[in-house]
Amino acid sequence: MPEIRLEHVTKRWGKFYGVDDLSLTIKDNAFVTLLGPSGCGKTTTLRMIAGLETPTSGKIMIGDNVVFDSSKGINVPANKRKVGFLFQNYALWPNMTVYQNIAFGLSNIKEEMDSYNAEAREAARLIDILENPAQAKAIIEESKGKDGKPDEKKALVYLTESLMIPLSSASKLYKVISSGNIGKSIDSFRSAISQAKSKDQLDEDFRILKDGKPVRTVRKLTKDEIDLSVRRVSKLVKIGMFMDRYPAELSGGQQQRVAIARTLAPEPSVLFMDEPLSNLDAKLRLEMRYELQRLHVETGSTFVYVTHDQMEAMTLATDICLMSNAVLQQYAAPLEVYNKPSNLFAADFVGNPSINFIEASGRQEADGSIALSILDGIPVHFRPAESVNLQEWQKRREEEAHQKEERLKARSKEKDYVEKSNKEEIFRYHIQRTEELDESLESGRTANDDDFVIGIRPELLVIDENGPIEGEIYGAMPTGMESTIKVCVKDYLLTSVIFGNLHFRIGTKVRMKIAESRIMLFDRKSGKFIALGSIEF
Ligand code: ATP
Repeated sequence: MPEIRLEHVTKRWGKFYGVDDLSLTIKDNAFVTLLGPSGCGKTTTLRMIAGLETPTSGKIMIGDNVVFDSSKGINVPANKRKVGFLFQNYALWPNMTVYQNIAFGLSNIKEEMDSYNAEAREAARLIDILENPAQAKAIIEESKGKDGKPDEKKALVYLTESLMIPLSSASKLYKVISSGNIGKSIDSFRSAISQAKSKDQLDEDFRILKDGKPVRTVRKLTKDEIDLSVRRVSKLVKIGMFMDRYPAELSGGQQQRVAIARTLAPEPSVLFMDEPLSNLDAKLRLEMRYELQRLHVETGSTFVYVTHDQMEAMTLATDICLMSNAVLQQYAAPLEVYNKPSNLFAADFVGNPSINFIEASGRQEADGSIALSILDGIPVHFRPAESVNLQEWQKRREEEAHQKEERLKARSKEKDYVEKSNKEEIFRYHIQRTEELDESLESGRTANDDDFVIGIRPELLVIDENGPIEGEIYGAMPTGMESTIKVCVKDYLLTSVIFGNLHFRIGTKVRMKIAESRIMLFDRKSGKFIALGSIEF
């Protein structure tokens, strides 16, 4: 399966940038989720890779093929990119059965393919099965109804699915086994193979050869090839028993599975999905997530998946591509984004309930810790897990900002450059207070080098009677397994997740401690992540 590479891909409409200078490598067999708030450019990114949207500039490669290059005028159309799509509105054809819905796309494929001697290939496969017929016999036995009689229709479905053979082969097999003439049938299949070999030069897969090389012709898929594909994918998504039903006779989840099967049938090497589960109810969504995860492993395809639901992105992805306002914010494995977010935006967007942000100010001391004042005057030390020199960090930050400015200047001199109307802004994080003040939405613009933001995930804020922070329960949401509680400290509201079946009464005084690791320190000026560490009181 191919790797997908985006190099400096930009899409703009007039002065509005939908995707701005995106460079990304989607590894072979990855499950990448494009995540971010509404309008951040997820769908546009997906559509550009798929070939449904033309980038304004940049280069896109799928495997070794350049499918888009603005500088060379290359733009391979979507239907030539060998990719599959699954969108939110997956409308099945209501007047076609499940089988026909899945087969329809396959019957329209016409491209250069190897030519086979289909009869000989089928004969060889049947000989294989009949030489050790125990499995096939057991499958037919299994299909017997309560009356002890075999159910042919059921047996054929079981045979096609278990042995991965087309329906026509299953039908022949059923007849041979039911008649008991296994030996005679093997002989006649053998003579069919000999005859085929006397007519054409064939390789071990029964591909027709000419001068030792497989003959490739532009052709459509045969009925059996289509049947085999339909059976293969319907087994994957577990809809084998519904092949003769019409979409109206299926539940929402079953319809969704048919849509997935239809997309998988042509064996796309890359599968693009745009919020494919958003029309399903919460329970079904969760079930389908498991199915997608399993499919990803079983098909070995690369999945690119758009969602604004961070839980979905976290649970499904091997890598999350987190975007905001057309710009890539972080591209990393889900737990990396959760535990080590690249900036305040990423920290805030991922995680439910949301992370606690606490403003802090102070200086680094000789021992490497940073002496800070938090929550209106509580003195603490932030001790980085790995040593960090703040002065050097800030110097690097300035250098990077300078380089970025230089890059922008250089870009602005390019012939087709258009100034961006949706400019980048530093993320305005939210400090929750009992009384919402205007300044609780910080801009970061006024910050200086002594200003920081501490990020504490709710599960790291622990109720402990010996804890150094004193507060009062402001609200509690018990779910049985855990409770999300809001604790009021001075007039700040902090969120904590407590595991277990506990009851918290509003107004009760509590003490809390902060867990000893995985506390985040951010730079308030740039919003960037500085270090992980611990807080000492
Ligand atoms: P959502 O989660 O709401 O679907 P998204 O992240 O997928 O959002 P996109 O659909 O990629 O967002 O759109 C990115 C931005 O580009 C949006 O602000 C959108 O309004 C804008 N946009 C998309 N298509 C066009 C178009 N054809 N013309 C102008 N602007 C467009």
